[in-house]
Amino acid sequence: MNHTSYIEISKSAYKKNIQFLRSEVGENTTISAVIKGNAYGHGIENIVPIAEGVGIRHFSAFSAAEALRAYNASKKQSEIMIMGMLENSDLVELIEKGISFFVFEFDRLEEAIKVSKKLRLKAKVHIEVETGFHRTGFEWEDREKLHKILNSNLDHLILAGLCTHYAGAESVSNYVRVRDQIKKYLAYKDWLLEKGLEFEKFHSACSAATFSYPETIMDMVRIGIASYGFWPTQETYMYKFKTLPENNKNPLKRLINWKSTIMSLKKVKMGDFIGYGSSYMAPRDMVIALIPIGYSNGFSRLLSNQGKVLISGKIVSVVGTVTMNSIAVDITDLSGVKKGDEVVLIGKQKKNEITVASFGESTQQVNYELLTRLPLDIPREVIA
Ligand SMILES: *Cc1c(COP(=O)(O)O)cnc(C)c1O
Repeated sequence: MNHTSYIEISKSAYKKNIQFLRSEVGENTTISAVIKGNAYGHGIENIVPIAEGVGIRHFSAFSAAEALRAYNASKKQSEIMIMGMLENSDLVELIEKGISFFVFEFDRLEEAIKVSKKLRLKAKVHIEVETGFHRTGFEWEDREKLHKILNSNLDHLILAGLCTHYAGAESVSNYVRVRDQIKKYLAYKDWLLEKGLEFEKFHSACSAATFSYPETIMDMVRIGIASYGFWPTQETYMYKFKTLPENNKNPLKRLINWKSTIMSLKKVKMGDFIGYGSSYMAPRDMVIALIPIGYSNGFSRLLSNQGKVLISGKIVSVVGTVTMNSIAVDITDLSGVKKGDEVVLIGKQKKNEITVASFGESTQQVNYELLTRLPLDIPREVIA
């Protein structure tokens, strides 16, 4: 190992998550695997083949750059969809490659039609409507103009989808707002259908909406966090818990394990300060282990004197400050620990486990943020 830590990515965990999601959404709903944020930190190039191996044929990216990475990683001609940013100058390549994209502004719509005419290739678009998220989407007031443009350009457009996104389906405090969004989406849908437009897929649900508002499941769901083995929030899990079968109360499995090794051991006398400054004074004679990961590797400085890691299957504490490249942990009460032993930062070792949630709780980061902040230069290794 010439890196100071590495991240394992479990294929079998992904498979279990998709099996559970499949049982939730039924056979007739497409699962689009959301791979924005470098596949929530797992690596687009790792996740696309794993997902295709378990039957996924639809991927959702945020940007054109991510979509092209997914396109290149795909071996099964999967559909690739962009939910967010692209430049008009990207349109030629995207349309040529058959990559679909959200359209939420007249500028993008008109430009897509122009490029499609020039290429004599239909642009695959997902029309995003504003229902209350107030980020992107065509307003209700835009409907006449929207309908007119779509209807008169059906030779240049494939209406791949009609979509929206909910503003916080993972928390009951947004219940009224989400209910209102569902109503507005259905009204927009009905209006366009009555005008005679047809869309290949209606889609609105993310992970939380899929679990907490099953009526949002429709033709396709866009699933990110749950496919990586996390509940959107503890609240979503609690909501779902009672309906989970007795023998499978924990159906979502984390894909990642983050591991390092002990770099060196040191004895410290009672009263000595450990590391920079004076944040930790040894309360007794101690043995510490140095681990070669620090805040430059995504182990937050906020975990100084707070963080926990696993060594020899036991939970041990970070002592002193997290530095750029290393931490010290207290192993005084362990025996037989030696240089080179495995250290688990996230994951299981023997009977104990450090979860992303527990790792994040002491730094107030949500799962989503913590995952996507794991630095790109830590090697990801796909395991069975
Ligand atoms: C991120 C995102 C999703 C997936 O959200 P999860 O909570 O990770 O399932 C779905 N739709 C859109 C538009 C998104 O931006």
